[in-house]
Amino acid sequence: MSLLSSINRKEIIENLKSTTYDLVVVGGGITGAGIALDAASRGMSVALLEKNDFSSGTSSKSTKLIHGGLRYLKQFEIGLVREVGRERAIVHKLAPHLVLAEKMLLPLIKGGTFGPLGTSIGLFVYDFLAGVTGDDKRKMLNKKQTLEKEPLLEGQRDVLNGSGYYAEYRTDDARLTIENIKTAGKYGALCINYVQVDDLKYEDGRVAGVRCRNIETNEAFDVKAAYVVSAAGPWVDTLRKKDNSLKGKRLFLSKGVHIVVPHERFPIQQALYFDVTDGRMVFAIPRQRVTYIGTTDTPYEGDPDRIPIGQEDVDYLLDAANQMFPDVNLETEDVESSWAGVRPLIYEESKSASEMSRKDEIFESGSGLISIAGGKLTGYRKMAERITSLLGQKLAKDHNRSLKPSTSEKIPLTGGPFQNSGEVEAYRKGIGRKLAKLGLDPFYADYLVYNYGKQSDEILNKLNAFNNEPETALARAEAWYAIHHELALRPMDFFNRRTGRLYFNLPSIRRVMGPVLEDFRSYFNWSDSRLKEETAAVQEEIDWVSKFEYSAKAGKAVSS
Ligand SMILES: Cc1cc2nc3c(=O)[nH]c(=O)nc-3n(C[C@H](O)[C@H](O)[C@H](O)COP(=O)(O)OP(=O)(O)OC[C@H]3O[C@@H](n4cnc5c(N)ncnc54)[C@H](O)[C@@H]3O)c2cc1C
Repeated sequence: MSLLSSINRKEIIENLKSTTYDLVVVGGGITGAGIALDAASRGMSVALLEKNDFSSGTSSKSTKLIHGGLRYLKQFEIGLVREVGRERAIVHKLAPHLVLAEKMLLPLIKGGTFGPLGTSIGLFVYDFLAGVTGDDKRKMLNKKQTLEKEPLLEGQRDVLNGSGYYAEYRTDDARLTIENIKTAGKYGALCINYVQVDDLKYEDGRVAGVRCRNIETNEAFDVKAAYVVSAAGPWVDTLRKKDNSLKGKRLFLSKGVHIVVPHERFPIQQALYFDVTDGRMVFAIPRQRVTYIGTTDTPYEGDPDRIPIGQEDVDYLLDAANQMFPDVNLETEDVESSWAGVRPLIYEESKSASEMSRKDEIFESGSGLISIAGGKLTGYRKMAERITSLLGQKLAKDHNRSLKPSTSEKIPLTGGPFQNSGEVEAYRKGIGRKLAKLGLDPFYADYLVYNYGKQSDEILNKLNAFNNEPETALARAEAWYAIHHELALRPMDFFNRRTGRLYFNLPSIRRVMGPVLEDFRSYFNWSDSRLKEETAAVQEEIDWVSKFEYSAKAGKAVSS
C-alpha cells in the first residue's frame, strides 16, 4: 500500500492508531519534513502529523530563496550566515532541478544604503563564510556592465554607481517540503496531512504521544510515541501552552507579503535585491511568466492560518518597485496574485521585527516536549540533524539504543537524482521535445522539470488517459499524480502547494479547474454539494490572493 496516496488515507490512519513510534513530529512544514527524513534515515520509526496541508504554513509563503541572508551580515549574525550560506550548495546538490542557481544583482545608487566599498567587502565576506569558489564569487560591476545585466535600471542611469553581482539559489518552498516528505516516506516515515494534534498525552508526567483529530472525519484518536517534537512554526507556542511550558523565550510573529505581476509588465532580466527609502531591502525575482516582489516585515498578532494582505501592503511593494524602476509604473491592477506568511521569530526585547535574529532555537520542556522554532528554509537540513542528534542522546540514555550518524547531506530528494545542473538541462530539453509532440507550450518544460524533476515522465505518460486539449489534459495528469503520489486531498493542495499555479500561473487555474475538480469528485466520491463547496473554496482562495482592500486588519506595511 502506498503511504503517499490520499486514496489510502483511511488505511494510513489505521496504521497510525495501531503503531507505537519512536518519534511523532508535529507540523509538516520544511522543518518537520526535514526532521522526519533525518530521523527515519537514521533508524527511528517516525510519524509526522500536519493539521492542514504540508507546507501550508510559512513553508509555502517565503521568498523562495535558498540564500545565506546577506542582510544578516549587517547584523553580525556570522554563525547564521556561515551555516545557511554553506547549506545552499548542499541543498542544491540534493535537488538541482528544484534548487536552481540564481545570480543576484544589488544596484548601488548614489545616496542609497550601499556604497561600492562596503558592498564589495560585505559580498567578499559573504562568499568567504559560505565557501563560494570560482566563477560563483561575487563581482563588482560598473555602471555599463550593470545596465547590460539589467537594462530596466536605465531609469537610474544618472545615480547608478554600479552593482554587486553574487550567487544565490531559488527554489519552490512547498515542493522542497513535499519532496522531503516523500523521501522520508522511502525510509518508512508515515507522514499525513489534515490530522491535527489537539493535545499531548503523558505517562508518569512525561510526554508519551499525542491526541489528534482527523480533520476530514472529525474522528479523534491517539498516537503513541517515545518522543514528540513540535515543528509547528508559528504555532509552536500554542503547543508549549498546552504542555504548560510556555515560560521564558516566546515567539514573535512578523508578517511578510509578496506580490506577483506578469513578467511582461515588469520585465527584469534577472533577480535583484534593492533598497527602499525606509532602509529595508526588497527582492524582485523573475520566474517564468511572472515577476514577484517582496517582502514586508511587520509585527503580526492575528490568526497565522489566515494572514490578510491589505492594499497598504500592495502599495508599499509597488512603490518600492516604481521608485527603483520609474519607467515601469506598476499599479494594483497589474497584481495577478500574492501571498503572505509569518516568520516565527524568537522575541528579543527592544528590537524591531527586521532586527530580530533568524537563528533557530530548541526548547525542551520538563515533560520532555521538544520544540524547534525560528531558523530559515535554507537551514532546514542542519536544524533536522541537530534535533535527531539530540534524540539520539536520549535514545542512548533512556533505551540504550544508538542512531546512525546523519547522511542527509547525501540523500538525493525524490525528483532526482541528477548529478548536476547540466544533467537537469539535458533532461529539460528532452521534456521540451515531448511537449512539442503533445502540442504543449514550451513554457511547461521549465514548469514540469523545475517542479517535479524526473517525475515529469510519469505525469506525461498519464496524459494520454485524458481526452482534453493539451493544457487541461496536463493539469488532469498532474492532479492524478498529486493525489496518488503526493497526498493531495483538496483542490488547493494541488493548485497551490503541489504546482505553484495559484501564485505563478493563476489564469491557468480558471481554465482547467472545471475538469480537475470533476476528477477530485470521482477519485474521492464527492457528493454534488461537496463539489459545489470545493469549487466555491477555490474561487474564494483566488479572490483572497488577487483582491485587496485597505484594512486595519492587515496591519501597517512599513518597516518596524
Ligand atoms: C515572508 C517570508 C519570507 C521568507 N523567505 C525566506 C527565504 O527566502 N529563504 C529562507 O531560507 N527562509 C525564508 N523564510 C523563512 C522560512 O520560510 C521559515 O523559516 C520556514 O518556512 C519555517 O518552516 P517551519 O516548518 O518551521 O514552519 P511552518 O512552515 O509554518 O510549518 C509548521 C506547520 O505546523 C503545522 N501545525 C501547527 N500546529 C499544528 C498542530 N497542532 N497539529 C498538526 N500540525 C500543526 C502548521 O499547519 C504548519 O504547516 C521566510 C519567511 C517568511 C515569512
